Amino acid sequence: MEHIERYFPDLTNEQKDQFRRLKEIYEYWNLRINVISRKDMDQFYTHHVLHSLAIARIIDFKPNTTVLDVGTGGGFPGIPLAILFPEVSFHLVDSIKKKIKVVQAVKDSLGLKNVKADHIRAEDLTESYHFIVSRAVTAMPRFVDWVGNRISKDQFNDLTNGILYLKGGDLKEELREFPKVTIYDLAPLFEEPFFETKKLVHLVL
Ligand code: SAM
Repeated sequence: MEHIERYFPDLTNEQKDQFRRLKEIYEYWNLRINVISRKDMDQFYTHHVLHSLAIARIIDFKPNTTVLDVGTGGGFPGIPLAILFPEVSFHLVDSIKKKIKVVQAVKDSLGLKNVKADHIRAEDLTESYHFIVSRAVTAMPRFVDWVGNRISKDQFNDLTNGILYLKGGDLKEELREFPKVTIYDLAPLFEEPFFETKKLVHLVL
Protein backbone atom coordinates (compact mmCIF):
# COMPACT_ATOMS: atom_id res chain seq x y z
CA MET A 1 0.00 0.00 0.00
CA GLU A 2 2.92 2.42 0.71
CA HIS A 3 3.96 1.91 -2.94
CA ILE A 4 0.69 3.35 -4.14
CA GLU A 5 1.02 6.45 -1.98
CA ARG A 6 4.64 6.90 -3.09
CA TYR A 7 3.75 6.91 -6.79
CA PHE A 8 0.42 8.69 -6.34
CA PRO A 9 1.02 11.24 -3.56
CA ASP A 10 -2.17 13.27 -4.16
CA LEU A 11 -4.72 10.66 -3.08
CA THR A 12 -7.62 11.88 -0.96
CA ASN A 13 -8.36 10.17 2.36
CA GLU A 14 -11.30 8.42 0.70
CA GLN A 15 -9.09 7.02 -2.08
CA LYS A 16 -6.43 5.90 0.45
CA ASP A 17 -9.14 4.17 2.43
CA GLN A 18 -10.53 2.48 -0.71
CA PHE A 19 -7.08 1.24 -1.76
CA ARG A 20 -6.39 0.03 1.80
CA ARG A 21 -9.65 -1.97 1.92
CA LEU A 22 -9.15 -3.47 -1.53
CA LYS A 23 -6.85 -6.33 -0.49
CA GLU A 24 -9.20 -7.57 2.21
CA ILE A 25 -12.17 -7.45 -0.16
CA TYR A 26 -10.29 -9.46 -2.81
CA GLU A 27 -9.05 -11.93 -0.20
CA TYR A 28 -12.64 -12.58 0.78
CA TRP A 29 -13.87 -13.02 -2.80
CA ASN A 30 -10.84 -14.90 -4.05
CA LEU A 31 -11.55 -17.71 -1.58
CA ARG A 32 -14.99 -18.13 -3.19
CA ILE A 33 -14.36 -17.28 -6.85
CA ASN A 34 -10.81 -17.45 -8.12
CA VAL A 35 -9.93 -14.18 -9.84
CA ILE A 36 -6.29 -13.80 -8.73
CA SER A 37 -3.80 -16.66 -8.47
CA ARG A 38 -3.41 -17.48 -4.77
CA LYS A 39 0.36 -17.04 -4.74
CA ASP A 40 -0.05 -13.63 -6.35
CA MET A 41 -2.13 -12.40 -3.40
CA ASP A 42 1.17 -11.72 -1.52
CA GLN A 43 2.04 -9.26 -4.25
CA PHE A 44 -1.48 -7.92 -4.64
CA TYR A 45 -0.59 -4.21 -4.51
CA THR A 46 2.36 -4.42 -6.91
CA HIS A 47 1.20 -7.05 -9.41
CA HIS A 48 -2.41 -5.97 -9.62
CA VAL A 49 -3.10 -2.52 -8.21
CA LEU A 50 0.11 -0.72 -9.17
CA HIS A 51 0.27 -2.50 -12.53
CA SER A 52 -3.27 -1.30 -13.31
CA LEU A 53 -2.37 2.23 -12.19
CA ALA A 54 0.63 2.26 -14.55
CA ILE A 55 -1.87 3.54 -17.13
CA ALA A 56 -2.26 6.66 -14.97
CA ARG A 57 1.47 7.39 -15.19
CA ILE A 58 1.03 7.75 -18.95
CA ILE A 59 -2.35 9.49 -19.10
CA ASP A 60 -4.23 11.64 -16.62
CA PHE A 61 -7.79 10.99 -17.80
CA LYS A 62 -9.85 14.20 -17.84
CA PRO A 63 -13.23 14.31 -16.06
CA ASN A 64 -16.09 12.84 -18.15
CA THR A 65 -13.79 10.54 -20.10
CA THR A 66 -15.39 7.14 -20.76
CA VAL A 67 -13.26 4.01 -20.43
CA LEU A 68 -14.07 0.41 -21.32
CA ASP A 69 -12.12 -2.40 -19.61
CA VAL A 70 -12.37 -5.53 -21.77
CA GLY A 71 -11.91 -8.94 -20.10
CA THR A 72 -11.63 -7.27 -16.72
CA GLY A 73 -11.65 -10.61 -14.81
CA GLY A 74 -11.93 -9.57 -11.17
CA GLY A 75 -11.59 -5.89 -12.10
CA PHE A 76 -8.10 -5.19 -13.47
CA PRO A 77 -7.12 -2.66 -14.56
CA GLY A 78 -10.61 -1.10 -14.21
CA ILE A 79 -11.18 -1.07 -10.45
CA PRO A 80 -7.88 0.59 -9.37
CA LEU A 81 -8.30 3.15 -12.18
CA ALA A 82 -11.89 3.86 -11.11
CA ILE A 83 -10.67 4.61 -7.58
CA LEU A 84 -7.99 6.93 -8.90
CA PHE A 85 -10.29 8.74 -11.36
CA PRO A 86 -13.67 9.22 -9.63
CA GLU A 87 -14.86 11.64 -12.33
CA VAL A 88 -14.25 9.20 -15.16
CA SER A 89 -16.86 6.56 -16.15
CA PHE A 90 -15.67 2.97 -16.34
CA HIS A 91 -17.48 0.08 -18.03
CA LEU A 92 -15.98 -3.24 -16.95
CA VAL A 93 -16.96 -6.29 -18.99
CA ASP A 94 -16.15 -9.97 -18.99
CA SER A 95 -17.58 -13.03 -20.73
CA ILE A 96 -17.58 -15.03 -17.46
CA LYS A 97 -20.54 -14.25 -15.22
CA LYS A 98 -18.97 -15.16 -11.87
CA LYS A 99 -16.06 -12.78 -12.49
CA ILE A 100 -18.52 -9.93 -12.99
CA LYS A 101 -20.18 -10.99 -9.75
CA VAL A 102 -16.86 -10.27 -7.99
CA VAL A 103 -16.47 -6.92 -9.76
CA GLN A 104 -20.00 -5.95 -8.74
CA ALA A 105 -19.30 -6.94 -5.13
CA VAL A 106 -16.06 -4.92 -5.04
CA LYS A 107 -17.85 -1.94 -6.58
CA ASP A 108 -20.65 -2.17 -3.98
CA SER A 109 -18.23 -2.59 -1.02
CA LEU A 110 -16.25 0.47 -2.04
CA GLY A 111 -19.29 2.51 -3.10
CA LEU A 112 -17.80 3.21 -6.53
CA LYS A 113 -20.42 5.24 -8.40
CA ASN A 114 -18.36 5.55 -11.59
CA VAL A 115 -18.25 1.80 -12.39
CA LYS A 116 -20.70 -0.24 -14.45
CA ALA A 117 -20.00 -3.99 -14.62
CA ASP A 118 -21.58 -6.25 -17.25
CA HIS A 119 -21.44 -9.89 -18.20
CA ILE A 120 -21.04 -9.55 -21.97
CA ARG A 121 -18.62 -10.64 -24.67
CA ALA A 122 -16.46 -7.84 -26.06
CA GLU A 123 -17.74 -8.58 -29.58
CA ASP A 124 -21.33 -7.85 -28.53
CA LEU A 125 -20.75 -4.33 -27.15
CA THR A 126 -22.57 -1.48 -28.86
CA GLU A 127 -21.44 1.72 -27.08
CA SER A 128 -18.38 3.86 -27.88
CA TYR A 129 -15.69 4.98 -25.43
CA HIS A 130 -12.80 7.45 -25.42
CA PHE A 131 -10.37 4.74 -24.30
CA ILE A 132 -10.35 0.96 -24.11
CA VAL A 133 -8.03 -0.50 -21.49
CA SER A 134 -7.09 -4.13 -21.00
CA ARG A 135 -4.60 -6.61 -19.57
CA ALA A 136 -3.89 -10.24 -20.44
CA VAL A 137 -6.92 -10.98 -22.61
CA THR A 138 -5.84 -11.76 -26.17
CA ALA A 139 -3.36 -10.78 -28.90
CA MET A 140 -3.80 -7.31 -30.37
CA PRO A 141 -5.10 -8.27 -33.85
CA ARG A 142 -7.97 -10.25 -32.32
CA PHE A 143 -8.58 -7.55 -29.71
CA VAL A 144 -8.90 -4.93 -32.45
CA ASP A 145 -11.34 -7.17 -34.34
CA TRP A 146 -13.51 -7.27 -31.22
CA VAL A 147 -13.50 -3.64 -30.15
CA GLY A 148 -11.62 -1.54 -32.73
CA ASN A 149 -14.88 0.09 -33.86
CA ARG A 150 -15.93 1.03 -30.30
CA ILE A 151 -13.67 4.10 -29.99
CA SER A 152 -15.38 7.48 -29.92
CA LYS A 153 -14.16 10.34 -32.13
CA ASP A 154 -14.83 13.00 -29.50
CA GLN A 155 -11.30 14.01 -28.45
CA PHE A 156 -10.36 15.96 -25.28
CA ASN A 157 -7.55 14.12 -23.51
CA ASP A 158 -3.80 14.71 -23.95
CA LEU A 159 -3.42 11.31 -25.63
CA THR A 160 -5.45 10.47 -28.74
CA ASN A 161 -8.47 8.24 -28.05
CA GLY A 162 -7.64 4.59 -28.53
CA ILE A 163 -6.56 1.35 -26.89
CA LEU A 164 -4.28 1.26 -23.82
CA TYR A 165 -3.12 -2.32 -23.37
CA LEU A 166 -0.83 -3.56 -20.57
CA LYS A 167 1.58 -6.06 -22.11
CA GLY A 168 4.89 -7.74 -21.48
CA GLY A 169 7.68 -9.17 -23.62
CA ASP A 170 8.50 -8.69 -27.27
CA LEU A 171 5.62 -7.05 -29.08
CA LYS A 172 7.12 -6.37 -32.52
CA GLU A 173 5.47 -9.28 -34.33
CA GLU A 174 2.09 -8.79 -32.66
CA LEU A 175 1.96 -5.07 -33.45
CA ARG A 176 3.45 -5.20 -36.95
CA GLU A 177 0.18 -4.48 -38.75
CA PHE A 178 -0.61 -1.35 -36.70
CA PRO A 179 1.09 1.87 -37.87
CA LYS A 180 -0.17 4.19 -35.12
CA VAL A 181 1.26 2.51 -32.06
CA THR A 182 3.36 3.84 -29.18
CA ILE A 183 4.98 1.47 -26.71
CA TYR A 184 5.70 2.94 -23.28
CA ASP A 185 8.29 1.13 -21.19
CA LEU A 186 7.08 0.94 -17.59
CA ALA A 187 10.50 0.04 -16.09
CA PRO A 188 11.74 3.65 -15.74
CA LEU A 189 8.50 4.66 -14.02
CA PHE A 190 8.64 2.13 -11.18
CA GLU A 191 11.52 0.80 -9.11
CA GLU A 192 9.95 -2.63 -8.45
CA PRO A 193 11.64 -5.43 -10.51
CA PHE A 194 8.15 -6.63 -11.53
CA PHE A 195 8.00 -3.76 -14.04
CA GLU A 196 11.30 -4.57 -15.78
CA THR A 197 9.63 -6.18 -18.83
CA LYS A 198 6.26 -4.46 -18.61
CA LYS A 199 4.92 -2.10 -21.24
CA LEU A 200 1.86 -0.05 -22.03
CA VAL A 201 0.77 -0.12 -25.65
CA HIS A 202 -1.16 2.90 -26.94
CA LEU A 203 -2.88 2.09 -30.19
CA VAL A 204 -4.76 4.60 -32.32
CA LEU A 205 -6.99 3.27 -35.09
N1 SAM B 1 -7.83 -8.38 -17.14
C1 SAM B 1 -7.86 -9.24 -15.97
C2 SAM B 1 -6.52 -9.19 -15.25
O1 SAM B 1 -5.55 -8.74 -15.84
O2 SAM B 1 -6.45 -9.62 -14.07
C3 SAM B 1 -8.24 -10.67 -16.32
C4 SAM B 1 -7.32 -11.36 -17.27
S1 SAM B 1 -7.82 -13.03 -17.61
C5 SAM B 1 -6.29 -13.77 -18.03
C6 SAM B 1 -8.64 -12.86 -19.19
C7 SAM B 1 -10.11 -12.49 -19.06
O3 SAM B 1 -10.65 -12.18 -20.35
C8 SAM B 1 -10.96 -13.61 -18.50
O4 SAM B 1 -11.65 -13.16 -17.37
C9 SAM B 1 -11.91 -13.96 -19.65
O5 SAM B 1 -13.17 -14.38 -19.20
C10 SAM B 1 -11.97 -12.63 -20.41
N2 SAM B 1 -12.36 -12.77 -21.82
C11 SAM B 1 -11.84 -13.61 -22.74
N3 SAM B 1 -12.45 -13.44 -23.93
C12 SAM B 1 -13.39 -12.46 -23.76
C13 SAM B 1 -14.35 -11.84 -24.62
N4 SAM B 1 -14.48 -12.19 -25.88
N5 SAM B 1 -15.12 -10.86 -24.10
C14 SAM B 1 -15.01 -10.48 -22.80
N6 SAM B 1 -14.14 -11.05 -21.95
C15 SAM B 1 -13.33 -12.03 -22.42
